[in-house]
Amino acid sequence: MKIAKVIVDVPLMQTDKPFSYSLSAEFENLLEVGMRVHVPFGSGNRLVQGIVIGFEDEELEPSVNLKGISELLDVEPVLTDEQLWLADEMRHSVFSYKISCLKAMLPNLLNSNYDKLLKSTDGTSVKWSQLTEAEKISSAKAVRLGQLSVEYLAKSKENKKTEKFLSIPDIEKLAEFEIEKRAKKRLELKYFLLRLQEEKIAVRSLNFSSQIIKFFVEHDLVKIEEVEISRTKEKFEDVENDSAKILNSEQNAAYEKIIASSDKPFLLEGITGSGKTEVYLQTIDHFLKLGKTAIMLVPEISLTPQITNRFIARFGDKVAIMHSGLSDGEKYDEWRKIKSGKAQVVVGARSAIFAPVENLGIIIIDEEHETSYKQDSSPRYHARDIALLRAKWHGARLVLGSATPSLETRARAMRGVYELLLLTKRANEAAILPEIKIIDMRSEISDQSANFSQSLLTKIKEKIDKDEQVILMLNRRGYSSFVMCRECGFVVDCPNCDISLTLHMDTRTLNCHYCGHVEGIPQTCPNCHSRKIRYYGSGTQKVEEELREIMPEARVLRMDVDTTRTKNAHEKILEKFGNHEADILLGTQMIAKGLDFPNVTLVGVINADTGLNLPDFRASERSFELLMQVAGRAGRADKKGEVLIQTFNPHHYAIEMTKAQDYEKFYEMEMRFRRELSYPPYYFTVQVLVSHQDEEVAIQKSYEIAQLLKQNLTEKAKILGPTARPIARTHNLYHYQILVKYRFEEELESALNQVLELTQLRDNKNLRVLIDSEPQNF
Ligand code: ADP
Ligand code: ZN
Ligand code: ZN
Repeated sequence: MKIAKVIVDVPLMQTDKPFSYSLSAEFENLLEVGMRVHVPFGSGNRLVQGIVIGFEDEELEPSVNLKGISELLDVEPVLTDEQLWLADEMRHSVFSYKISCLKAMLPNLLNSNYDKLLKSTDGTSVKWSQLTEAEKISSAKAVRLGQLSVEYLAKSKENKKTEKFLSIPDIEKLAEFEIEKRAKKRLELKYFLLRLQEEKIAVRSLNFSSQIIKFFVEHDLVKIEEVEISRTKEKFEDVENDSAKILNSEQNAAYEKIIASSDKPFLLEGITGSGKTEVYLQTIDHFLKLGKTAIMLVPEISLTPQITNRFIARFGDKVAIMHSGLSDGEKYDEWRKIKSGKAQVVVGARSAIFAPVENLGIIIIDEEHETSYKQDSSPRYHARDIALLRAKWHGARLVLGSATPSLETRARAMRGVYELLLLTKRANEAAILPEIKIIDMRSEISDQSANFSQSLLTKIKEKIDKDEQVILMLNRRGYSSFVMCRECGFVVDCPNCDISLTLHMDTRTLNCHYCGHVEGIPQTCPNCHSRKIRYYGSGTQKVEEELREIMPEARVLRMDVDTTRTKNAHEKILEKFGNHEADILLGTQMIAKGLDFPNVTLVGVINADTGLNLPDFRASERSFELLMQVAGRAGRADKKGEVLIQTFNPHHYAIEMTKAQDYEKFYEMEMRFRRELSYPPYYFTVQVLVSHQDEEVAIQKSYEIAQLLKQNLTEKAKILGPTARPIARTHNLYHYQILVKYRFEEELESALNQVLELTQLRDNKNLRVLIDSEPQNF
């Protein structure tokens, strides 16, 4: 009898191995490896989704009674052999279930409930869900024979060419409408709507359930209308064509090396504006001409529409774009474009590394030091590791690019594991490197302002008077505004998380950035009832307000999480700034990356220090990268750029090396520090996170786990903790952590698997253990 081996979508340790299901004669000719099926599972024979990973012919004892496959979900494989192999390889480093590795490779639409439309050549079509089992089997056969074609449908109506938009008929009414404090989601939507900058917003871009929205419709707080739209087309329309530039000698040397050999991955290290992107474009072009394909990863692509436009300008509709800002339907469209071979260049954020391209010629990871390449939920993979595997499978090139490579990558290049390619000059000869000045805030605090030194204000004024533009960055990491009582020091905390609530001035609310809790601002102190309760700190909103007061003539655009929540909001803000509809772009870290505005001649950093003081061994590296990156936004064309950095730590080496624009020196100093304290890249790290509702249980289990690790690892491994997490409680769970530092531990994987097995014990039902290999955030 023929048997199908199926990985089922049930998160249990034992489900990592495939289960056997018998195949009826009907299914035998239809089913292939890489297709999804519904199978009965467990004692209740609940139907679960599964992925077929192989077949076997087995002589079975008559007594063995195998369950059969219930339903086909695909008419052709959705996963390739390569992807099945990747999932196997990946599993060892990410400590996730195989099914979650496999699901990471599929667009959401194929992981959730969906329907298919079967279209015949005469134009009629029928929905898969309306067919009987027998009809499904015969339709699947018809698809094989090319008599029917298939289109997957999203649950929502997004495949239609209409779009629902929401508008607010009466903002006063909405503002005054009382919502019960307990109805958190409703409250959240209310405040979200009050903050809305646009007149209309697409309903599907809202992160709220239809029930919540319905409540607002029923109370006449919002209006919904359906509007005709054209999907996906728009992005190719207004991009001009662009042709290759003649490479300078450094660029050319890099280009030649990359196309010549695939023995080692390359590190393309070049200062901002040195023409790395031009090298990417031309090497990709080389492989396209050989009939191959390419993957280009960029961090958080929605933040850098300028980059995607350069790819579209060069390669037109050969480009598929994958990023988190797309709806499930749009993602599925791009996935299909790639799978069918219509797109040969995939430009995307982290998960695009799994794009189902065949015949891969080159993979490029731009800004390889970015932490967004590591997924911080399960499966916790790093795109770089997946890229290495895929490059191996295809014999493809792998290029890691950065102006400030991560220490891990640079150290590998120094040891010869990667080949180092250097670009030392700006490609556009007229563009010289900006001049960087450090402003010592200890002696420069002005009476006029809490955030700005006099030197920065004078400089901004000077630039605006010359009709030039300014970028101002506020480092928000570890920094937020909060409400405190001046009488007793009481700070308003989230009831579910050990963290103070962040003040949102525009909505006059206090929000938890972890769990989404929202509440009003108290008039008196909840602790001592004093009226001396005050707002503290200054987020981007406060800086914006201050700027408007001091310099009312300056036109300011703000870019932060609040102003970019809606679809395409980034693009709109950047477009306005690009059209010189504003003089100043004020924002958080999100403005540091990838922007290229020739008229920007001044970059100001409001607070360089906030990132330096975080309890994370990468704090200096992150600050240096960020400052170098934002400095690179100034003077990109023929006007010389200036950078002013305000700091209370002018002699910190991350600040001094930024001023000198000296990556090499920073690398040396930072490596010395890492060696002394046994941190990466001298040691590998793995973090075990233990969470439980009951703090005592969390502590006790953490000690048990640390003990288990000590017993299984050699003395050379350093086991730190358990200690409480920096934010010890979120979502009503207490969190403890153990950090293992090691160089080579043969038993590490099996020891960590033992740790995971603990959670499968009946006694530990509410225990949550996460294993994060090479964690990026502490
Ligand atoms: P990076 O990616 O290193 O920041 P880019 O590739 O964006 O650098 O190049 C910076 C600017 O220089 C861009 O405007 C680009 O068009 C231009 N440029 C790059 N290479 C060349 C070249 N060989 N000749 C002329 N201009 C170039
Ligand atoms: Zn919270
Ligand atoms: Zn008080």
